[in-house]
Amino acid sequence: MQDPNAQNERIFNKRRKVLVEELVSRGIRDDRVLTAFEAVPRHLFIDTALSHRAYEDTALPIEMGQTISQPFTVAKQTELMEVEPGDKILEIGTGSGYQAAILCEMGAKVFSVERHHQLYDRSREILNKLGYRPTLKCGDGTVGWSAYAPYMGIVVTAGAPVIPESLKRQLDVGGRLVVPVGDEEKQVMYRITRKGEGEDDFEEEKFSIFKFVPLIGRQGWSK
Ligand code: SAM
Repeated sequence: MQDPNAQNERIFNKRRKVLVEELVSRGIRDDRVLTAFEAVPRHLFIDTALSHRAYEDTALPIEMGQTISQPFTVAKQTELMEVEPGDKILEIGTGSGYQAAILCEMGAKVFSVERHHQLYDRSREILNKLGYRPTLKCGDGTVGWSAYAPYMGIVVTAGAPVIPESLKRQLDVGGRLVVPVGDEEKQVMYRITRKGEGEDDFEEEKFSIFKFVPLIGRQGWSK
């Protein structure tokens, strides 16, 4: 008789490949991003009752009324950071831990902050189990994580009312901050690149519209 777990894993592997093809058809081009998507088992970052939907290109609910972002959104934000192996990357909003795993898989040194203790605990457990070793913290990520700054990439995975100034200041020269900014209904994806040491030496680019859960904190929305 076939081992049902091995059979499930084969099905999930096939679905991951189909998802990667879908991401390519939607314009994701960075091979490192695509290779990471093919490797990271998204079904292990969500409730088992939803694992049959893990490789649909859709956001899914996790605990504390939050979501694991849509795969296309994770891929787009990651691609916009132009991550190189060894880069120091800060993520705001660990949530399920899935995006942190993608970044670790790409060889980045990952730092990630989550405001909900329950999600911090749960994501730490699954990331460790899978052998990923990001540095995690429970707290308000809108102020960044100055102890490890500067970063080559900062990704905010919740919708901000404005670009958090602290995050801009924690970018390395050449580093990129990817952050969705708007109202609670929809946000525009911004990429801020630090061009030099100067106070105002930043370039700002805008990309398409997304919908995120709110970024709550000192430089985000109030509760
Ligand atoms: N990157 C996550 C993933 O891969 O599952 C997506 C998580 S979800 C779309 C956004 C997360 O941001 C939620 O878990 C939420 O609790 C968290 N969040 C919101 N405001 C935050 C803040 N100020 N600091 C840290 N995390 C925050």
